[in-house]
Amino acid sequence: MSANCIFCKIVAGEIPATKVYEDADVLAFMDIGPVIKGHTLVIPKQHFDPLTATPEPVLAQLMAVVKKIAAAQLHGLRADGVNVMQANGAAAGQVVPHLHFHVIPRFAADGHRWNWAAKKYDDPAELQQLAAAIKAAVT
Ligand code: AMP
Ligand code: ZN
Repeated sequence: MSANCIFCKIVAGEIPATKVYEDADVLAFMDIGPVIKGHTLVIPKQHFDPLTATPEPVLAQLMAVVKKIAAAQLHGLRADGVNVMQANGAAAGQVVPHLHFHVIPRFAADGHRWNWAAKKYDDPAELQQLAAAIKAAVT
C-alpha cells in the first residue's frame, strides 16, 4: 500500500467504493465522476504506477478483467461500444497515480465526442525520424 493513495485506501476498505468485480489481485469499481454513466475503473490491488513500471503478469491479469467489464457493459448495460483508456503522468491527464484502466460504455446516442484532433507531420521525414527514435528505444 502506498501512503495517501486513494485507490490503495479503496482496496484496504478505508474509503468506500461500489465494486463490480473483485479477485485476489484485481478490483473493478464504479468511477464517481463518469464520463458516461456506467464508467468503471479496473485496478491492481497492489500499488503499481505507471504502466511502464508494472510487471507484465499484472498487466495480463488487469487486461483480462478489462475484457470482462467491457463484455459486461455490452451485455449488462446494452452498450453499443466501449472505450478503454489509461493515463500515465499529469501531462497525459492522470490525476490518481495508481495504475487504472478506464472502461467506459458507449451508446450510439450518448452525444459524447473525444477531443481527438488528428494533426499532420511537417513532412514524411519527420514521421520517419520519430519512428526511428521509438524503434531504437524499444527494449
Ligand atoms: P485519471 O485522470 O486517469 O487519473 O482518472 C482518475 C479517475 O478516478 C477519475 O475518472 C475520477 O473520477 C476517479 N476517482 C477519483 N476518486 C475516486 C473515488 N474515490 N472513487 C471512484 N472513482 C474515483
Ligand atoms: Zn495505490
